[in-house]
Amino acid sequence: MIPFNKPYLSGKELEYIGQAVASGKISGNGDFTKKCHHYFQQRYGFGKCLLTTSCTDALEMAAILANIQPGDEVIMPSYTFVSTSNAFVLRGAKIVFADSEADRPHLDAEIIEPLITKKTKAIVPVHYAGFACDMDKIMALASKYNLLVIEDAAQSIDGFYKGRPLGSIGHLAALSFHETKNIISGEGGMLVINDKRFEDRAEIIWEKGTNRAAFWRGEVDKYGWVDIGSSFLPSEVTASFLYAQLESLETIQKRRVEIWDKYYAGLKVLEDRGFLKRPVIRSYSSNNGHMFYLICNSLQERTNLTAYLKERGIYAVFHYLSLHKSDFYTNKHDGRELHNSDSLTDTLLRLPLFYELKNDEVDYIISSITNFYLH
Ligand SMILES: *Cc1c(COP(=O)(O)O)cnc(C)c1O
Repeated sequence: MIPFNKPYLSGKELEYIGQAVASGKISGNGDFTKKCHHYFQQRYGFGKCLLTTSCTDALEMAAILANIQPGDEVIMPSYTFVSTSNAFVLRGAKIVFADSEADRPHLDAEIIEPLITKKTKAIVPVHYAGFACDMDKIMALASKYNLLVIEDAAQSIDGFYKGRPLGSIGHLAALSFHETKNIISGEGGMLVINDKRFEDRAEIIWEKGTNRAAFWRGEVDKYGWVDIGSSFLPSEVTASFLYAQLESLETIQKRRVEIWDKYYAGLKVLEDRGFLKRPVIRSYSSNNGHMFYLICNSLQERTNLTAYLKERGIYAVFHYLSLHKSDFYTNKHDGRELHNSDSLTDTLLRLPLFYELKNDEVDYIISSITNFYLH
């Protein structure tokens, strides 16, 4: 059986967890947390970084920082994970779902402007599969209308837009280290604060609404309740695991991109013959090897292909269901049709991609897909 995902351990995780435990401090914001923050700031030029217990939490922090009030509007793709929108709904926002581009799942920057109203507060681009959204266009709209841009960078670690790291462009950005992502800590995430205006408040929200972080640095002589917040910071057990992964980032990325390239080359023939579509990579985007997906011609075809692969021991899985049509949101949506998002809901299929996937397994998956279409 070839699973869809298998979490990869670099080998140092248990050693570092042991060090964290031996240090006598396993709650949050200790040495390993600081090492992780430093890593991201140095390597990617991120603004202030704060590890969180998930990307979901980082998005919830972003919604608080953006000061979202009931009735405020937030623009984002419908083809995304629930956490992207839930974070803002928790603060009373109305989500204005926008369609994906015609040839890829990303928020279509060309259709955002007419959706902006006096109530719009933020745009949330999702770098699907680690490929960049058209950030210059999105940032230009944000500055024209004085909006915040919060990058959902959950899938885009080590991804770039015109050479600039994803997560470093928006005012705020949220990364994920969930076990299905490239770099993992079981559950885990990080908020990146690129706009200095939010730095102090972010730290307070992170520490349950207290100024404890400033207290530890000796900046205030006692700490207390100064704002809303929650327990967003992960323990040192999580941070030490994550740090071990970060030390292996280049090795992990290299292998994932190799597998991705092998799929891309191997499935070319089928695309040339009109059977399926491979991912489209814009010239401004890098490829971080997060996900290999293909797009079938219909829901029926995807269902049949999924079953065919499963019979051959291969787990391929579909992805999001358009959020504007979800049970929770369908009555709150304004009724606009989002055809590209709906079409992806029916036709996108993700193939197994993890560090330990072997070349002969990739070949077997490619030949199985080829057999499905050609025999
Ligand atoms: C994985 C993911 C999330 C949620 O990340 P968690 O760390 O599991 O909370 C949010 N948005 C997108 C696009 C994701 O892929």
